[in-house]
Amino acid sequence: MAVYRYCPQCGSPLELLPHSGRERDACIQPECGFVHWNNPLPVLAAVVEYEGKLLLARNAAWPEKMFALVTGFMERDETPEQGVARELKEETNLDAHSVSLIGVYEFMRKNELIIAYHVQASGTIALSEELADYKLVAPEDMRIWSAGTGFAVADWLASRGHPVRFFDRQTGEDIPDPRRREGLGQPGISLQYRP
Ligand SMILES: [Zn+2]
Repeated sequence: MAVYRYCPQCGSPLELLPHSGRERDACIQPECGFVHWNNPLPVLAAVVEYEGKLLLARNAAWPEKMFALVTGFMERDETPEQGVARELKEETNLDAHSVSLIGVYEFMRKNELIIAYHVQASGTIALSEELADYKLVAPEDMRIWSAGTGFAVADWLASRGHPVRFFDRQTGEDIPDPRRREGLGQPGISLQYRP
């Protein structure tokens, strides 16, 4: 996340000052009043169903075995549903036919809030330059990373009666749903699929 040292309004240095219950980077000039609130940024994520399978994509910058949901930020003047459809089109060339909310998930590690949708899509897959590869995985074969967007996949799989199998990144072993074991509010990381 970005760290600001100077006020974007007046150019004065920022200092940690108390505002609304916690210390925040704020302009030292009282007449300016700029506060860097650093609120979580919403991120759209899509559990994409394509020809009966789930589409996972690998970002060009990621390790070879790491696949995840299609994600992206919202643009000004669009609804989250429009944003999901736009991101899907931009990144995979697929058209979204239905976009329905799965849930909202914390992703504190990156100061983001994940808004996850189930998207039914069709068309011909053509990846953008951002993406290096994709996989189509049968829902019953999904093994999911136990945080972040993984919880959205888990909730969608459970809602359709599919098995929900989390795995441990270190050992590769199946593990129980960590939300049941450790409770809600664990810092998240992105979904990972292992063949
Ligand atoms: Zn200022």
